[in-house]
Amino acid sequence: MSYIGRIAPTPTGYLHLGHARTFWTAQERAQAAGGTLLYRNEDLDPQRCKPEFRQTTLEDLHWLGLRWEEPVMHQSERMAHYRTAFEQLRDSGHLFPCDCSRRDIREATTAPHSEDGDPIYPGTCRSRSSNPIPQPAPDYNWRFRVPEGEVVKFTDGHFGPQQFVAGTDFGDFPVWQKNNLPSYQLAVTLDDATMGITEVVRGADLLVSTARQLLLYRALGLQGPEFFHCELLCDENGERLAKRHDALSLRELRAQGKTPEALREMWA
Ligand code: GLU
Repeated sequence: MSYIGRIAPTPTGYLHLGHARTFWTAQERAQAAGGTLLYRNEDLDPQRCKPEFRQTTLEDLHWLGLRWEEPVMHQSERMAHYRTAFEQLRDSGHLFPCDCSRRDIREATTAPHSEDGDPIYPGTCRSRSSNPIPQPAPDYNWRFRVPEGEVVKFTDGHFGPQQFVAGTDFGDFPVWQKNNLPSYQLAVTLDDATMGITEVVRGADLLVSTARQLLLYRALGLQGPEFFHCELLCDENGERLAKRHDALSLRELRAQGKTPEALREMWA
């Protein structure tokens, strides 16, 4: 099976040095395997994603020396596919309708947080059935009912053996949101399967999400890829780089006269 990798930026701001390193690693791994690199534009959220950032992201990645095969996949054009997968999961009893607000979840006294900072869903609505579908459908988020206590294991190409306990390390997570958009988890699972991705290279902040996505692959009857998570870069205060770190954005570094080679030395 030939290697197919991908880079999947979200156009909500300028790319920073951390993104550059992850995407560069994705390209290097695809090249080393004699494979292909694809590009997915993760523009699901119309409120946060901006066309100008899509443009700056493309420019910055080209400048850095990244090349991928066309066509680019745009998530915003794939709503019908996400909808079908959501209905499949709902109709096979994997989901439940939830009307808890973020605040309800935050205030549930027993709700701890998973490693990636998401509060663990306290289970308020999980015994609700998805059949019959509540009519008229009010403002529901549809959550995946995780198999309590199951240990989800995978071997990461960089970090080695990983395991996360469903219900303890992460809780029932959203699949379809009340704003009528798929969740990140559903969209990337379906997209990676549709694109035939053989290895996902991305940041270590998504290690727990890999466990969530493995449950989705199984529930959808899809074959999951391999995973390679990259260490995250931190600023001088030890904080993870985020899109607000303008000083370490590729735009700014380039404006300061840094070359792509100099950047690669910064993260080596
Ligand atoms: N779009 C996500 C991000 O920019 C990456 C998603 C993924 O690689 O699965 O963080």
